[in-house]
Amino acid sequence: MRLDFDDPGLFSFEDSFAGLSHLGTIKKKAILSARKDFEAVREFAQHHLRPLVLSADLAVQKDKNALPDDILALAVKHRMLSLFIPGFIGGGGSGVMYGINPCIEEMSSVDPAFQAGVLAGHGLGMAALTVSQNLKIFERVAAKVVSEERAGRPYLVDCAITEPMAGSDVEEFDLLPHARLVSRAGRVEGGALISGNKCFISGGHTANLHVIVAPFDLKRPAETLSMFLVPKDSPGFNLGRIEEKMGMKAGSASELVFDGCFVPNENIVYDGEDIPAAYRERILHSVLGMTRIAVGAMGTGVARGAFETALAFAKTRLWKGKTLIHHQWAQEMLTNMLMNVYMARAVYLEAGCVLFTAVLPGALPAFMNARWFERLYQSPIARRIRYSQRVRDAMLKGFFGKPREDNERLQFYSSLAKVVGSDTGMENCHLALEMMGEHGLRHEAGAEKLFRDIKLCQIFEGTNQLNRLHMFNHFIARNLPGVNPFSGGRP
Ligand SMILES: Cc1cc2nc3c(=O)[nH]c(=O)nc-3n(C[C@H](O)[C@H](O)[C@H](O)COP(=O)(O)OP(=O)(O)OC[C@H]3O[C@@H](n4cnc5c(N)ncnc54)[C@H](O)[C@@H]3O)c2cc1C
Repeated sequence: MRLDFDDPGLFSFEDSFAGLSHLGTIKKKAILSARKDFEAVREFAQHHLRPLVLSADLAVQKDKNALPDDILALAVKHRMLSLFIPGFIGGGGSGVMYGINPCIEEMSSVDPAFQAGVLAGHGLGMAALTVSQNLKIFERVAAKVVSEERAGRPYLVDCAITEPMAGSDVEEFDLLPHARLVSRAGRVEGGALISGNKCFISGGHTANLHVIVAPFDLKRPAETLSMFLVPKDSPGFNLGRIEEKMGMKAGSASELVFDGCFVPNENIVYDGEDIPAAYRERILHSVLGMTRIAVGAMGTGVARGAFETALAFAKTRLWKGKTLIHHQWAQEMLTNMLMNVYMARAVYLEAGCVLFTAVLPGALPAFMNARWFERLYQSPIARRIRYSQRVRDAMLKGFFGKPREDNERLQFYSSLAKVVGSDTGMENCHLALEMMGEHGLRHEAGAEKLFRDIKLCQIFEGTNQLNRLHMFNHFIARNLPGVNPFSGGRP
């Protein structure tokens, strides 16, 4: 069959070389700042976190309520909870594109449990608030995270979407109308009342503030899906059980229970019916676009951690009179593991470039941490207008009004990063255990913990099966009318 060169098909220049298309816009300052963040996280992860990781895992195995407060205190001391909060609000300003994902890889190579179970739950909550474009609420919460951290106290946020009967269905907009949701909000004088249950919420038991996603009308969830803030001590809200899960023990996966929990108007992040219909799907897509790339970085970190564990073993373990590292089969196996790390890393970095063009408006991230921007942002005129409806509308348009093909590309790349990172992490953990034999099964060797941890990355942020269908839908089928794996909804 002849190729039609007027139709770029699936492999236009932008589809194929996202990073290359984007190179010209990368500022030298942004790269320097990414390096600085990375070095700070490396120091924290390698010198402070590493010595505590295995004992924290064991402690929670014995008692699921023994959440590691000592690690959290260290994270506060090293300013890890505000790393990605913009500089103009006082945070570390590590950008979503260049800065934060290498930091996530670094942290996950040492402890995916603390990274995913505590920091990622917090990151998901903050990402949801960022994307909501409610500047007033975002600023209020971000400033609180920063000020509490400066005072030596953790202030954590989580994000509750999943419910006992609805996991994948709430991650995929096309499935939402068929989702068996139970959590809902009712409109009342001065706010809303939330009832229902959420489950498997990362960091629920350590969060000070819960970001809740629930519809106003269970019969029209796609149109009325909204976002609320619920402080942990709110009447009508209770923490349920902590799941006894196989891995990522250092972070709780929590049940949240709402029984007529009142949310005042100032804590309604957005009401789905106030969002233009064209942007509703984009909000969900933008949150997942960010967080799935982060899971890709997590998986890459685990792949690296498994490689490093196997390498350390191979350098010391004697076999047939020589250490393993001198045997060709071990050299090949280690090289395969290293190749996996580099391949997974290339994908999440490339996906970061797509995120930059698909969601973030113009040059915003490049000057977000500049002093002049902080001064401008705090100026009297900016203070007067920044919470106005006009500014909000402009921000919604800036973030969600991008061309359809940019969003399709982001959906493809973010799922690709998530699946490749987590599958690669799984493969490397498997290879590490193969190489290490019975020693790898011992808790103190670290490999079996990584193996238990990485499985969870294949499940959250949409299972890898669902992410594959998401990629099919937003890439292979994007120009094929009527071809949609989700069009039938849930049987
Ligand atoms: C450690 C951990 C932390 C988590 N943290 C959070 C959190 O902080 N906040 C939050 O909201 N959620 C969180 N989750 C929940 C997570 O997002 C869900 O587990 C995930 O979306 C999958 O949903 P599910 O487990 O209900 O699986 P289900 O949706 O029940 O899927 C079961 C199986 O069916 C398949 N499947 C489902 N639908 C389809 C379809 N249409 N077509 C084909 N196959 C399909 C799936 O691939 C899977 O194999 C967390 C989960 C874990 C494990």
